[in-house]
Amino acid sequence: MSLVVQKFGGSSVADAASIKRVAQRIVEYRKAGHEVVVVVSAMGDTTDDLIDLAQQVSPMPPARELDMLLTAGERISMAVLAMAIANLGFNAKSFTGSQAGMITDESFGRARIIDVTPGRIRSALDTGNIAIVAGFQGVSQTTKNITTLGRGGSDTTAVALAAALNADVCEIYTDVDGVFTADPRIAPAASRIETITFEEMLEMAASGAKVLHLRAVEYARRYNVPIHCRSSFSHNQGTWVTDDPIPAEFRPRRKPGALTPEGTDTEETDTTMEQAIISGVAHDRSEAKLTIVGVPDIPGKAAQIFTIMAKTEINIDMIVQNISTRDPGRTDISFTLPASDGAKATRALEDAKSEIGFDHMRYDDQIGKLSVIGAGMRSHPGVTAKLFEALSDAHINIDMISTSEIRISVVTRADLLDEAVRVAHSAYGLDAEEVEAIVYGGTGR
Ligand code: ASP
Ligand code: MG
Repeated sequence: MSLVVQKFGGSSVADAASIKRVAQRIVEYRKAGHEVVVVVSAMGDTTDDLIDLAQQVSPMPPARELDMLLTAGERISMAVLAMAIANLGFNAKSFTGSQAGMITDESFGRARIIDVTPGRIRSALDTGNIAIVAGFQGVSQTTKNITTLGRGGSDTTAVALAAALNADVCEIYTDVDGVFTADPRIAPAASRIETITFEEMLEMAASGAKVLHLRAVEYARRYNVPIHCRSSFSHNQGTWVTDDPIPAEFRPRRKPGALTPEGTDTEETDTTMEQAIISGVAHDRSEAKLTIVGVPDIPGKAAQIFTIMAKTEINIDMIVQNISTRDPGRTDISFTLPASDGAKATRALEDAKSEIGFDHMRYDDQIGKLSVIGAGMRSHPGVTAKLFEALSDAHINIDMISTSEIRISVVTRADLLDEAVRVAHSAYGLDAEEVEAIVYGGTGR
């Protein structure tokens, strides 16, 4: 008997009809003999609605109360789902994050999981129940206050539970058929990635791919939890995130059309295909670029600037430093940061202007970041040149560049980003012959 953790996002449990459909699917697994733990997000846009509600009564709601409020969203979906399952004649019990043993630190709104003690979940399973757990929430070890893990945190709940229960797979159900070689809304020729390593998926998520939550992938990698990211609107195979072969029991069957607990198989696995050098193209529109002009070119200035950014808790992404063309004793430092932190960053630096001794700042939020990711880069020279060539052929100017061992990222003008994604996708031969991506609605979460 295997243990499956299944996570359903907000768009998969948006209304009564969706919840009934999800309940059917969960029950299919139980019938096939699996133990099933389900993690749910709040229905549809409930979390956003609750945030709006809080803001209507207070411009700065106390963090403790905001977390208490937001966890209500997941409590609704967990109880309603348990009822829908009971209605199909199966035993189901719902648990809050705290009842499920999700122990966190005390930071409201972005709590970190420090321990998972799923004793009650284990006994619910042992007595033949399907366990339903509210995602995105936990309880502080010290204060016993209720906490939330941050937006999109239900993925992390699911992976953490899967790790603690030693599950065979953590299935993350969303409204797309898995992880694609690019966002199909931008590059219609994108195709589903069958399997991807943790390392590559981490780079994809960190570079703007939104299907899986970054923290969940980090957690999965640390505890080696295989993730199967797939659509709750179809029975197709999705994308496996794992460094190991897909567990035999869940491997796509050889016979297309065969009915399996996971549904009808639509394809055969082709093991002869050589691993692509590039796994995917990600993009990110959420960053801005800040240039500090005329910084004295002496030791310690960069340290000063980035210490201020660190103290302001701003995550810096790319950094470029150039000798100023106008004044040889000075340098210009540019870096990218989340656009949502733009005002905070410029204020903090403005305050330290005379101390640092720079001339002025330029802020640009009309930028886009394109990243190509693939472990094959390590052993194949020329991958970078190919990207630059393709962008140049399309007359797309590159503003900044950064690389890791398995990723190349470039900053372009925001309005050229979509084209840059398509061009890069084609250049690495990722374009599918037939359009295969179906977006089933919702927001991609
Ligand atoms: N409901 C929460 C959110 O919308 C958590 C989640 O969906 O994972 O952010
Ligand atoms: Mg949500």
